[in-house]
Amino acid sequence: MNDFLSHGLRFGCTQCSRCCRHDPGYVFLSPADCSSLADFLGISCNELVASRCRKVVLGGGLTMVSLLEKENHDCTFWNNAEGCTVYEARPVQCRTYPFWASAVEDWESWNREAVHCPGIGQGRVYTRDEIEALLAMRRQNHPMTV
Ligand code: SF4
Repeated sequence: MNDFLSHGLRFGCTQCSRCCRHDPGYVFLSPADCSSLADFLGISCNELVASRCRKVVLGGGLTMVSLLEKENHDCTFWNNAEGCTVYEARPVQCRTYPFWASAVEDWESWNREAVHCPGIGQGRVYTRDEIEALLAMRRQNHPMTV
């Protein structure tokens, strides 16, 4: 049990879109993420992987599937007029941000994430139970390997 979470953490998304755009990064998909996105778009998982994803080779010979980025590093599903065009079917990695294990270890990690996310410290307090549920959702959403 993480004592740091005992009083909860304040967060309210300002919809600045920094976590979806501008900087390079990975959005790894699980099989469930792939199915939801593919269903939402009316295509198959294979078509989604072929058209909107890239394969990322990690250490130990592991290859995972991440969403493509545009040349300017915006997410492939970002559109300046509409924002996230797959919001209802967005992957768990996006859905659970900024409550990622790497960000909620202690004040140092939370404050470090706040440099990238202006919503941290705004809005309502997420209780420990809510944060633990988001952490569990992320833990159980094993990335797809190919
Ligand atoms: S960086 Fe934070 S505040 Fe900005 S859109 Fe992402 S979650 Fe919301």
